[in-house]
Amino acid sequence: MDQEKLKYFTKLVLRERERILRGLDNVQEDLKETSEETLIEEIDKAFSSEGRELLSSFIDRHTEGLEAVNQALERIKEGTYGICVRCGGEISEERLEAIPTASLCLSCQQNLERQSRASQALISSPLRKWTEDDVIEPAEEEDEEEI
Ligand SMILES: [Zn+2]
Repeated sequence: MDQEKLKYFTKLVLRERERILRGLDNVQEDLKETSEETLIEEIDKAFSSEGRELLSSFIDRHTEGLEAVNQALERIKEGTYGICVRCGGEISEERLEAIPTASLCLSCQQNLERQSRASQALISSPLRKWTEDDVIEPAEEEDEEEI
């Protein structure tokens, strides 16, 4: 990647960071309000704790986003920006344009998603549904016929 392009993508990454940080600011404001509300309106406890959970998952997501931004900045410094961390191939510029913090090329990303979907499927349904092919005629029946 030439220097001009790298500068361009660095700007995109920094813009992404700004966007996340602004989002976090808003959330922290929201959190403050929520805690005040909680103090005043004890009745709405259930609702408030639910709201806080939502906000904290929102913060988690954004902290992850920030982590991705920091890693991207690190790669820019190291001169490995735009190179897939998994296979070492180039990440397409269209992809970086869409996701400036991308650390994987499209095919590695897709592989990873396929893998995590597969393992999630295994975790979420350890007992798959029986199909007709699975039904083995019980051996006892034959015994009964013999008797
Ligand atoms: Zn790759």
